[in-house]
Amino acid sequence: MRLASLKRRSRMKTSFPTLVEPKTINKPVSSVEANFTQQWRLVTTMTTNLIFVLDNNRKPLTMCTAGLARKLLDSQKAAMFKWYPATIILKKSVVELPLPYLELRIDPGSKFTGIALVEIETETIVWAMELEHRGLEISSSLTARSSVRKGRRNRNTRYRKERQNHKKQPGWLPPSLQHRVDTTITWVKRIIKLAPIKSIAFERVKFDIQKLENPSIEGIEYQQGTLQGYTLREALLEHWGRKCAYCDAIDIPLEIEHIRPKSKGGSDRFNNLTLSCHQCNQKKSNQSIDDFLKHDPVRLNDIKKNQKQSLRDAAAVNSTRKKLFDSLRTFNVLVYSSSGAETKMMRIKSNLPKAHFIDAGCVNASSLVILKTIQPLRVKCNGHGNRQFMTMDKHGFPRKDYSPKHVRKDWKAGDIIKVKKKDGTSVLGRVKKAAKTLVFIPFRGKETSFSPKNTKPIHRSDGYRYSFTIIDTELLQKIVT
Ligand SMILES: [Zn+2]
Repeated sequence: MRLASLKRRSRMKTSFPTLVEPKTINKPVSSVEANFTQQWRLVTTMTTNLIFVLDNNRKPLTMCTAGLARKLLDSQKAAMFKWYPATIILKKSVVELPLPYLELRIDPGSKFTGIALVEIETETIVWAMELEHRGLEISSSLTARSSVRKGRRNRNTRYRKERQNHKKQPGWLPPSLQHRVDTTITWVKRIIKLAPIKSIAFERVKFDIQKLENPSIEGIEYQQGTLQGYTLREALLEHWGRKCAYCDAIDIPLEIEHIRPKSKGGSDRFNNLTLSCHQCNQKKSNQSIDDFLKHDPVRLNDIKKNQKQSLRDAAAVNSTRKKLFDSLRTFNVLVYSSSGAETKMMRIKSNLPKAHFIDAGCVNASSLVILKTIQPLRVKCNGHGNRQFMTMDKHGFPRKDYSPKHVRKDWKAGDIIKVKKKDGTSVLGRVKKAAKTLVFIPFRGKETSFSPKNTKPIHRSDGYRYSFTIIDTELLQKIVT
């Protein structure tokens, strides 16, 4: 960023993004919400994400609170560098080493990936974000495209020679999954540039089945410790669908049950275990499963089939996670991996509720985790529009003339801009359509059009949409008390 534009920006009165997602602002405030807002004010100073700080050589420094950042900006000692994630740049260079060092922790998921920055020594989550993927949209739009193309081939019945080798390369992932790897890596790259990161911790597997099958590899502590209990229970719950295997009861305490009773030589191995409610467990007692379910052959068959399903199937390392892990190791920092069961155990021990960013913060934690932010940045993958020149009907015929999406070179749909109104006030919002006049949706208020003259860029459209995860009251109370 050029110095002139920095200077100009630092003169703008700075205010940090609103705490509530823009969409929810126009809703009527109920008494519960009002009460909640009051509570929120109590803790607001210590529970927002910390702000990234760079020196004038763009070296990442110790992160600071929003309050301090505001002071630095108002006294012109720093300028706004980036809005999402909020970053300021100091106007001098700093020699000292930034302390404390942070660990970047990632909990990859199919819909959301939680990312958290944690002070390693105190295990404190100081910054968090949730990355919302768009895998489903990608796969459905590719299916739509392929069906149009296939239809076209059917009409044109002449033989057409194969034009390229469609054999999948090793390491190939479907575009919807590759997208998850790519966007996560993009964000790791971005964050590494902004914060003093020493290591990356990554939840590589859900259950460490190898440890489960062969507990001796970790020594006596693992065999008898709490961790094995957690891992085993979680793996069983997942494998047997979180219900009683004999009566399908859900949402009740489930007991670990030996399919072949121990008294008849059944082992403690994973594939001899299932889950049942207390009543069924008592009823079955030490009967063999064939006797117990002789009146219900369908269920008997299902259980036997489920039991046979190879553990390797459950243990098969999720291909996306494997690829992500391999990509993370190309960065110049240490990478640790851990299992989901360990994460969950640490989260429960730390008395923290379930959320993607909290799970991320608990990955690879060595002691109880302290939560210092409950306002994670929500980043939705939006894509960059499409490159289609012609819209077509369902038969694949052109429907209307091509109209270019981006008419103006300087503005683009999705840019966040500040518009100066005629009465002197200014509003923040997002460009909906960039033409001769900008169609603009302010964060507060109704859609309007403006001349592009009176606008300033805040954050250029980069394929992501930013907001803040709506604050959970339960979460809030945990922090207040
Ligand atoms: Zn039951």
